[in-house]
Amino acid sequence: LNKMDDIHQLEQLDKQHFLHPTSSIEQQQTLGPAFIFREGKGIYLSDVKGNVVIDGMSSLWNVNIGHGRLEIGEAAREQMAKLAYSSCFATFSNEPAIRLAAKLAKIAPGQLSAVFYTSGGSEANDTAYKLARHYWSIKGMPEKKKIISRTKSYHGVSVGATSATGLQPFREFSGSLAPDFLHVDQFDTDELRQLIIREGAESIAAFLAEPVQGAGGVHIPPENYFAEVRKICDEFNLLLITDEVITGFGRTGKWFGIEHYGVTPDMMCIAKGITSGYAQLGGVMISKEINETFKQRSGGTFLHGFTYSGHATACAIALKNLEIIEREQLVSNAKVRGDELLAGLKQLKNESEIIENVRALGLMAAIEFKENKTTTPFSPQVVAEAAKRGLICRAVTFNGQDTVVIAPPLIIKKAEVEKVIQILRETINA
Ligand code: PLP
Repeated sequence: LNKMDDIHQLEQLDKQHFLHPTSSIEQQQTLGPAFIFREGKGIYLSDVKGNVVIDGMSSLWNVNIGHGRLEIGEAAREQMAKLAYSSCFATFSNEPAIRLAAKLAKIAPGQLSAVFYTSGGSEANDTAYKLARHYWSIKGMPEKKKIISRTKSYHGVSVGATSATGLQPFREFSGSLAPDFLHVDQFDTDELRQLIIREGAESIAAFLAEPVQGAGGVHIPPENYFAEVRKICDEFNLLLITDEVITGFGRTGKWFGIEHYGVTPDMMCIAKGITSGYAQLGGVMISKEINETFKQRSGGTFLHGFTYSGHATACAIALKNLEIIEREQLVSNAKVRGDELLAGLKQLKNESEIIENVRALGLMAAIEFKENKTTTPFSPQVVAEAAKRGLICRAVTFNGQDTVVIAPPLIIKKAEVEKVIQILRETINA
Protein backbone atom coordinates (compact mmCIF):
# COMPACT_ATOMS: atom_id res chain seq x y z
CA LEU A 1 0.00 0.00 0.00
CA ASN A 2 1.18 3.52 -0.68
CA LYS A 3 0.97 6.16 2.03
CA MET A 4 -2.40 7.64 1.03
CA ASP A 5 -4.00 4.17 0.89
CA ASP A 6 -2.57 3.46 4.33
CA ILE A 7 -4.10 6.64 5.73
CA HIS A 8 -7.41 5.98 4.04
CA GLN A 9 -7.47 2.49 5.54
CA LEU A 10 -6.76 3.88 9.00
CA GLU A 11 -9.63 6.34 8.59
CA GLN A 12 -12.01 3.57 7.60
CA LEU A 13 -10.93 1.33 10.47
CA ASP A 14 -11.38 4.24 12.87
CA LYS A 15 -14.95 4.80 11.65
CA GLN A 16 -15.82 1.11 11.85
CA HIS A 17 -14.25 0.02 15.09
CA PHE A 18 -13.43 2.97 17.35
CA LEU A 19 -16.18 4.60 19.39
CA HIS A 20 -14.52 7.85 20.37
CA PRO A 21 -14.79 9.30 23.88
CA THR A 22 -16.71 12.58 24.21
CA SER A 23 -17.30 12.92 20.49
CA SER A 24 -19.97 13.63 17.92
CA ILE A 25 -20.65 10.22 16.44
CA GLU A 26 -22.33 11.84 13.44
CA GLN A 27 -19.28 14.01 12.77
CA GLN A 28 -16.97 11.07 13.22
CA GLN A 29 -18.97 8.98 10.76
CA THR A 30 -19.25 11.67 8.10
CA LEU A 31 -15.85 13.37 8.36
CA GLY A 32 -13.74 10.66 9.96
CA PRO A 33 -10.84 11.53 12.26
CA ALA A 34 -9.57 15.10 11.74
CA PHE A 35 -6.10 14.15 12.92
CA ILE A 36 -4.53 10.75 13.35
CA PHE A 37 -1.61 11.82 15.50
CA ARG A 38 1.66 10.00 15.16
CA GLU A 39 4.32 12.01 16.92
CA GLY A 40 4.69 14.66 19.58
CA LYS A 41 7.61 16.94 20.40
CA GLY A 42 7.42 19.74 22.95
CA ILE A 43 4.23 21.73 22.35
CA TYR A 44 3.79 20.26 18.86
CA LEU A 45 1.85 17.28 17.52
CA SER A 46 2.14 15.88 14.00
CA ASP A 47 -0.26 13.57 12.22
CA VAL A 48 0.03 10.81 9.64
CA LYS A 49 -0.49 13.31 6.80
CA GLY A 50 2.42 15.44 7.98
CA ASN A 51 0.35 18.28 9.46
CA VAL A 52 2.06 19.94 12.41
CA VAL A 53 -0.05 21.73 15.03
CA ILE A 54 0.51 23.42 18.38
CA ASP A 55 -1.15 21.35 21.12
CA GLY A 56 -2.82 24.41 22.62
CA MET A 57 -4.86 22.25 25.02
CA SER A 58 -1.94 20.13 26.31
CA SER A 59 -4.15 17.44 24.70
CA LEU A 60 -6.71 17.18 27.55
CA TRP A 61 -5.17 19.82 29.87
CA ASN A 62 -2.70 17.16 30.98
CA VAL A 63 0.53 17.03 28.98
CA ASN A 64 2.19 19.58 31.27
CA ILE A 65 5.82 18.73 30.43
CA GLY A 66 5.11 18.52 26.70
CA HIS A 67 5.38 15.62 24.29
CA GLY A 68 8.26 13.32 23.46
CA ARG A 69 10.19 13.41 26.75
CA LEU A 70 12.58 10.49 26.41
CA GLU A 71 13.54 10.70 30.06
CA ILE A 72 10.05 9.53 30.96
CA GLY A 73 10.34 6.62 28.57
CA GLU A 74 13.63 5.72 30.20
CA ALA A 75 12.09 5.82 33.72
CA ALA A 76 9.21 3.63 32.49
CA ARG A 77 11.58 1.17 30.83
CA GLU A 78 13.70 0.90 33.97
CA GLN A 79 10.69 0.31 36.23
CA MET A 80 9.06 -2.17 33.85
CA ALA A 81 12.28 -4.14 33.57
CA LYS A 82 12.39 -4.37 37.39
CA LEU A 83 8.69 -4.62 38.27
CA ALA A 84 5.96 -3.29 35.98
CA TYR A 85 3.14 -3.93 38.40
CA SER A 86 2.25 -5.67 41.61
CA SER A 87 -0.76 -5.50 43.92
CA CYS A 88 -1.05 -2.83 46.59
CA PHE A 89 -4.04 -4.46 48.28
CA ALA A 90 -3.86 -5.27 51.98
CA THR A 91 -0.26 -5.32 53.19
CA PHE A 92 1.45 -5.35 49.77
CA SER A 93 3.28 -2.28 48.56
CA ASN A 94 5.95 -1.14 46.09
CA GLU A 95 8.73 1.42 46.15
CA PRO A 96 7.54 3.94 43.50
CA ALA A 97 4.05 4.08 45.08
CA ILE A 98 5.56 4.77 48.51
CA ARG A 99 8.05 7.37 47.25
CA LEU A 100 5.37 9.16 45.22
CA ALA A 101 2.99 9.23 48.21
CA ALA A 102 5.71 10.87 50.32
CA LYS A 103 6.51 13.35 47.54
CA LEU A 104 2.84 14.30 47.15
CA ALA A 105 2.53 14.87 50.90
CA LYS A 106 5.48 17.27 50.63
CA ILE A 107 4.10 19.39 47.79
CA ALA A 108 0.38 19.29 48.66
CA PRO A 109 -1.13 22.28 50.47
CA GLY A 110 -1.69 22.32 54.24
CA GLN A 111 -2.37 19.12 56.08
CA LEU A 112 -3.03 16.88 53.06
CA SER A 113 -0.72 14.08 53.97
CA ALA A 114 -1.85 10.76 52.50
CA VAL A 115 -2.96 9.58 49.08
CA PHE A 116 -5.36 6.94 47.78
CA TYR A 117 -4.33 6.05 44.21
CA THR A 118 -6.66 5.69 41.22
CA SER A 119 -6.14 5.46 37.45
CA GLY A 120 -7.61 8.86 36.61
CA GLY A 121 -9.76 11.80 37.60
CA SER A 122 -13.21 10.20 37.47
CA GLU A 123 -12.11 7.40 39.76
CA ALA A 124 -10.51 10.02 42.00
CA ASN A 125 -13.83 11.84 42.27
CA ASP A 126 -15.89 8.74 43.03
CA THR A 127 -13.26 7.74 45.56
CA ALA A 128 -13.45 11.14 47.27
CA TYR A 129 -17.24 10.92 47.61
CA LYS A 130 -17.03 7.40 49.00
CA LEU A 131 -14.26 8.32 51.43
CA ALA A 132 -16.27 11.36 52.58
CA ARG A 133 -19.29 9.16 53.27
CA HIS A 134 -17.17 6.54 55.02
CA TYR A 135 -15.55 9.24 57.14
CA TRP A 136 -18.89 10.55 58.41
CA SER A 137 -20.22 7.04 58.84
CA ILE A 138 -17.39 5.96 61.14
CA LYS A 139 -17.82 9.20 63.06
CA GLY A 140 -21.39 8.11 63.78
CA MET A 141 -23.08 10.26 61.12
CA PRO A 142 -23.97 7.77 58.35
CA GLU A 143 -26.77 10.01 57.09
CA LYS A 144 -24.24 12.62 55.91
CA LYS A 145 -24.17 11.48 52.27
CA LYS A 146 -25.03 14.24 49.84
CA ILE A 147 -22.48 16.02 47.69
CA ILE A 148 -22.97 19.63 46.64
CA SER A 149 -21.14 20.94 43.57
CA ARG A 150 -21.56 23.80 41.09
CA THR A 151 -23.51 24.43 37.90
CA LYS A 152 -20.64 24.69 35.40
CA SER A 153 -18.46 22.05 37.03
CA TYR A 154 -16.98 18.99 35.34
CA HIS A 155 -15.85 16.09 37.50
CA GLY A 156 -15.68 13.14 35.11
CA VAL A 157 -17.83 10.39 33.64
CA SER A 158 -18.10 7.56 36.17
CA VAL A 159 -21.61 7.45 37.63
CA GLY A 160 -20.74 9.44 40.74
CA ALA A 161 -18.58 11.98 38.90
CA THR A 162 -21.26 12.46 36.24
CA SER A 163 -23.83 13.07 38.97
CA ALA A 164 -21.58 15.70 40.55
CA THR A 165 -20.86 17.35 37.20
CA GLY A 166 -22.90 20.52 36.91
CA LEU A 167 -22.93 20.70 33.10
CA GLN A 168 -26.35 19.28 32.42
CA PRO A 169 -25.80 17.49 29.07
CA PHE A 170 -23.44 15.05 30.78
CA ARG A 171 -26.11 14.12 33.31
CA GLU A 172 -28.79 13.83 30.64
CA PHE A 173 -26.69 11.36 28.66
CA SER A 174 -27.34 8.49 31.07
CA GLY A 175 -29.03 9.91 34.15
CA SER A 176 -27.58 10.73 37.54
CA LEU A 177 -27.78 9.78 41.20
CA ALA A 178 -29.68 13.03 41.59
CA PRO A 179 -31.15 13.17 45.07
CA ASP A 180 -27.73 12.63 46.59
CA PHE A 181 -26.04 15.17 44.30
CA LEU A 182 -27.02 18.83 44.44
CA HIS A 183 -25.85 21.85 42.48
CA VAL A 184 -25.49 25.53 43.34
CA ASP A 185 -24.76 28.59 41.27
CA GLN A 186 -21.13 29.24 40.40
CA PHE A 187 -19.88 31.74 42.95
CA ASP A 188 -22.96 32.48 45.04
CA THR A 189 -22.09 31.57 48.62
CA ASP A 190 -25.46 32.81 49.89
CA GLU A 191 -27.17 30.24 47.70
CA LEU A 192 -24.81 27.57 49.04
CA ARG A 193 -25.66 28.52 52.61
CA GLN A 194 -29.39 28.48 51.88
CA LEU A 195 -29.19 25.10 50.15
CA ILE A 196 -27.37 23.58 53.13
CA ILE A 197 -29.99 24.97 55.52
CA ARG A 198 -32.84 23.78 53.30
CA GLU A 199 -31.45 20.24 52.88
CA GLY A 200 -30.12 19.99 56.41
CA ALA A 201 -26.38 19.87 57.09
CA GLU A 202 -26.89 16.50 58.79
CA SER A 203 -27.57 15.00 55.31
CA ILE A 204 -24.60 16.56 53.48
CA ALA A 205 -21.13 15.03 53.32
CA ALA A 206 -19.15 17.52 51.29
CA PHE A 207 -18.91 20.52 49.04
CA LEU A 208 -16.93 19.87 45.88
CA ALA A 209 -15.30 22.45 43.60
CA GLU A 210 -12.59 22.93 41.00
CA PRO A 211 -10.34 25.85 42.08
CA VAL A 212 -10.60 27.11 38.50
CA GLN A 213 -13.24 25.42 36.38
CA GLY A 214 -11.74 23.95 33.24
CA ALA A 215 -14.10 22.05 30.95
CA GLY A 216 -16.97 24.35 31.98
CA GLY A 217 -15.18 27.28 30.31
CA VAL A 218 -12.21 28.41 32.49
CA HIS A 219 -14.08 30.22 35.24
CA ILE A 220 -11.85 31.88 37.82
CA PRO A 221 -13.53 32.55 41.19
CA PRO A 222 -13.65 35.95 42.87
CA GLU A 223 -10.75 36.38 45.30
CA ASN A 224 -12.67 35.76 48.54
CA TYR A 225 -14.90 32.98 47.27
CA PHE A 226 -12.98 29.98 48.63
CA ALA A 227 -12.33 31.64 52.01
CA GLU A 228 -16.09 32.06 52.34
CA VAL A 229 -16.67 28.46 51.17
CA ARG A 230 -14.19 27.19 53.76
CA LYS A 231 -16.01 29.15 56.47
CA ILE A 232 -19.38 27.70 55.44
CA CYS A 233 -17.99 24.14 55.34
CA ASP A 234 -16.57 24.56 58.86
CA GLU A 235 -19.77 26.15 60.17
CA PHE A 236 -22.01 23.33 58.87
CA ASN A 237 -19.59 20.44 59.33
CA LEU A 238 -19.06 19.68 55.63
CA LEU A 239 -15.85 18.41 54.10
CA LEU A 240 -14.35 20.64 51.42
CA ILE A 241 -13.17 18.59 48.43
CA THR A 242 -11.24 20.42 45.73
CA ASP A 243 -11.01 18.83 42.31
CA GLU A 244 -7.47 19.68 41.15
CA VAL A 245 -7.52 17.23 38.25
CA ILE A 246 -6.75 20.09 35.83
CA THR A 247 -5.41 22.77 38.18
CA GLY A 248 -2.87 20.53 39.92
CA PHE A 249 0.83 20.25 39.14
CA GLY A 250 1.55 23.78 38.03
CA ARG A 251 -1.22 24.55 35.54
CA THR A 252 -2.31 27.82 37.22
CA GLY A 253 1.18 29.05 38.14
CA LYS A 254 1.17 27.43 41.58
CA TRP A 255 1.58 23.74 42.42
CA PHE A 256 -2.15 23.53 43.16
CA GLY A 257 -4.89 25.94 42.16
CA ILE A 258 -6.33 26.32 45.65
CA GLU A 259 -3.05 27.92 46.80
CA HIS A 260 -4.18 31.12 45.08
CA TYR A 261 -6.96 31.43 47.62
CA GLY A 262 -5.17 30.67 50.89
CA VAL A 263 -7.41 27.86 52.10
CA THR A 264 -6.80 24.14 52.59
CA PRO A 265 -9.29 21.50 51.50
CA ASP A 266 -9.99 18.32 53.48
CA MET A 267 -9.58 16.21 50.36
CA MET A 268 -8.09 16.92 46.97
CA CYS A 269 -8.65 15.00 43.70
CA ILE A 270 -5.61 14.77 41.44
CA ALA A 271 -4.84 13.16 38.04
CA LYS A 272 -3.81 14.45 34.57
CA GLY A 273 -0.64 16.53 35.21
CA ILE A 274 0.60 14.08 37.85
CA THR A 275 2.10 12.07 34.96
CA SER A 276 1.62 14.64 32.18
CA GLY A 277 -0.34 11.91 30.39
CA TYR A 278 2.61 9.52 30.08
CA ALA A 279 0.63 6.96 32.11
CA GLN A 280 -2.82 6.68 33.66
CA LEU A 281 -2.76 7.82 37.27
CA GLY A 282 -4.89 9.78 39.68
CA GLY A 283 -5.62 9.92 43.36
CA VAL A 284 -7.29 11.54 46.31
CA MET A 285 -5.22 13.27 48.95
CA ILE A 286 -6.72 13.37 52.42
CA SER A 287 -6.01 15.53 55.46
CA LYS A 288 -4.14 14.29 58.50
CA GLU A 289 -7.38 14.44 60.47
CA ILE A 290 -9.26 12.21 58.01
CA ASN A 291 -6.29 9.86 57.80
CA GLU A 292 -6.15 9.60 61.60
CA THR A 293 -9.90 9.00 61.79
CA PHE A 294 -9.59 6.15 59.27
CA LYS A 295 -6.71 4.66 61.27
CA GLN A 296 -8.56 4.84 64.55
CA ARG A 297 -12.11 4.02 63.58
CA SER A 298 -12.30 2.23 60.23
CA GLY A 299 -12.60 -1.33 61.46
CA GLY A 300 -12.50 -4.47 59.32
CA THR A 301 -11.39 -4.19 55.73
CA PHE A 302 -11.20 -0.80 54.04
CA LEU A 303 -13.36 -1.96 51.13
CA HIS A 304 -12.26 0.39 48.40
CA GLY A 305 -9.45 -0.37 45.96
CA PHE A 306 -8.71 -0.58 42.26
CA THR A 307 -6.54 -3.22 40.63
CA TYR A 308 -4.29 -0.37 39.50
CA SER A 309 -4.20 1.59 42.78
CA GLY A 310 -0.48 2.27 43.21
CA HIS A 311 0.60 0.98 39.78
CA ALA A 312 4.39 0.79 40.03
CA THR A 313 5.18 1.98 36.50
CA ALA A 314 2.63 4.80 36.58
CA CYS A 315 4.06 5.96 39.94
CA ALA A 316 7.65 5.80 38.62
CA ILE A 317 6.56 7.93 35.66
CA ALA A 318 4.86 10.41 38.00
CA LEU A 319 8.04 10.73 40.09
CA LYS A 320 10.10 11.50 36.98
CA ASN A 321 7.45 13.92 35.74
CA LEU A 322 7.48 15.82 39.07
CA GLU A 323 11.29 15.87 38.98
CA ILE A 324 11.12 17.48 35.51
CA ILE A 325 8.50 20.04 36.64
CA GLU A 326 10.80 21.03 39.52
CA ARG A 327 14.08 20.96 37.61
CA GLU A 328 12.71 23.05 34.72
CA GLN A 329 10.77 25.36 37.08
CA LEU A 330 7.61 24.80 35.11
CA VAL A 331 5.32 26.08 37.88
CA SER A 332 6.84 29.56 37.67
CA ASN A 333 7.06 29.28 33.89
CA ALA A 334 3.30 28.70 33.84
CA LYS A 335 2.86 31.97 35.73
CA VAL A 336 5.21 34.03 33.56
CA ARG A 337 3.97 32.60 30.24
CA GLY A 338 0.39 32.76 31.50
CA ASP A 339 0.75 36.48 32.20
CA GLU A 340 2.13 36.95 28.67
CA LEU A 341 -0.72 34.90 27.22
CA LEU A 342 -3.30 37.02 29.08
CA ALA A 343 -1.63 40.23 27.91
CA GLY A 344 -1.79 38.94 24.32
CA LEU A 345 -5.45 38.01 24.69
CA LYS A 346 -6.24 41.46 26.09
CA GLN A 347 -4.59 42.92 23.03
CA LEU A 348 -6.79 40.73 20.82
CA LYS A 349 -9.85 41.93 22.70
CA ASN A 350 -8.87 45.54 22.01
CA GLU A 351 -8.49 44.76 18.31
CA SER A 352 -11.65 42.72 17.86
CA GLU A 353 -15.32 43.60 17.85
CA ILE A 354 -16.50 40.07 18.58
CA ILE A 355 -14.66 39.40 21.86
CA GLU A 356 -16.64 40.04 25.04
CA ASN A 357 -14.08 39.05 27.62
CA VAL A 358 -10.71 37.33 28.08
CA ARG A 359 -9.33 35.69 31.22
CA ALA A 360 -6.47 33.46 32.38
CA LEU A 361 -4.84 32.10 35.49
CA GLY A 362 -1.43 30.68 34.67
CA LEU A 363 -1.81 28.61 31.52
CA MET A 364 -5.60 28.22 31.69
CA ALA A 365 -7.12 30.82 29.44
CA ALA A 366 -10.41 31.70 27.77
CA ILE A 367 -11.79 34.01 25.09
CA GLU A 368 -15.50 34.66 25.52
CA PHE A 369 -17.30 35.87 22.41
CA LYS A 370 -20.12 38.36 22.14
CA GLU A 371 -23.56 37.07 21.29
CA ASN A 372 -23.63 36.11 17.62
CA LYS A 373 -27.10 36.79 16.32
CA THR A 374 -26.46 36.10 12.64
CA THR A 375 -24.88 32.65 12.46
CA THR A 376 -23.86 29.74 14.70
CA PRO A 377 -21.69 30.55 17.75
CA PHE A 378 -18.23 31.90 16.99
CA SER A 379 -16.24 29.41 19.08
CA PRO A 380 -16.64 26.22 16.96
CA GLN A 381 -15.73 28.22 13.85
CA VAL A 382 -12.69 29.70 15.58
CA VAL A 383 -11.55 26.25 16.69
CA ALA A 384 -11.91 24.79 13.17
CA GLU A 385 -10.12 27.72 11.55
CA ALA A 386 -7.35 27.79 14.17
CA ALA A 387 -6.67 24.08 13.52
CA LYS A 388 -6.17 24.88 9.80
CA ARG A 389 -3.65 27.53 10.85
CA GLY A 390 -1.77 25.18 13.16
CA LEU A 391 -3.32 25.61 16.62
CA ILE A 392 -5.51 23.25 18.59
CA CYS A 393 -7.87 24.91 21.05
CA ARG A 394 -11.34 23.99 22.33
CA ALA A 395 -14.84 25.46 22.02
CA VAL A 396 -17.12 25.57 25.06
CA THR A 397 -20.79 26.08 24.22
CA PHE A 398 -22.39 24.55 27.35
CA ASN A 399 -25.04 26.62 29.17
CA GLY A 400 -25.27 29.09 26.31
CA GLN A 401 -21.60 29.99 26.46
CA ASP A 402 -19.55 30.89 23.39
CA THR A 403 -15.99 30.51 24.57
CA VAL A 404 -12.66 29.23 23.29
CA VAL A 405 -10.31 27.79 25.89
CA ILE A 406 -6.55 27.44 25.65
CA ALA A 407 -4.19 25.55 27.95
CA PRO A 408 -0.79 24.90 26.35
CA PRO A 409 1.95 22.74 27.92
CA LEU A 410 3.83 24.40 30.80
CA ILE A 411 7.09 24.20 28.84
CA ILE A 412 5.84 26.79 26.34
CA LYS A 413 8.36 29.53 25.48
CA LYS A 414 7.78 33.26 25.07
CA ALA A 415 8.06 33.11 21.27
CA GLU A 416 5.60 30.23 21.18
CA VAL A 417 3.05 32.19 23.24
CA GLU A 418 3.43 34.96 20.66
CA LYS A 419 2.83 32.42 17.89
CA VAL A 420 -0.37 31.21 19.63
CA ILE A 421 -1.62 34.80 19.86
CA GLN A 422 -0.72 35.47 16.22
CA ILE A 423 -2.64 32.40 15.01
CA LEU A 424 -5.64 33.41 17.13
CA ARG A 425 -5.43 36.95 15.69
CA GLU A 426 -5.42 35.68 12.10
CA THR A 427 -8.20 33.21 12.88
CA ILE A 428 -10.48 35.77 14.52
CA ASN A 429 -9.86 38.31 11.74
CA ALA A 430 -10.76 35.65 9.17
N1 PLP B 1 -12.19 16.41 37.23
C1 PLP B 1 -11.87 17.43 36.43
C2 PLP B 1 -11.81 18.81 36.99
C3 PLP B 1 -11.58 17.19 35.08
O1 PLP B 1 -11.30 18.21 34.26
C4 PLP B 1 -11.61 15.86 34.61
C5 PLP B 1 -11.30 15.56 33.19
O2 PLP B 1 -11.23 16.43 32.34
C6 PLP B 1 -11.98 14.84 35.48
C7 PLP B 1 -12.25 15.15 36.80
C8 PLP B 1 -12.08 13.42 35.01
O3 PLP B 1 -10.83 12.89 34.84
P1 PLP B 1 -10.61 11.60 33.91
O4 PLP B 1 -11.00 11.99 32.53
O5 PLP B 1 -9.13 11.30 34.09
O6 PLP B 1 -11.45 10.50 34.47
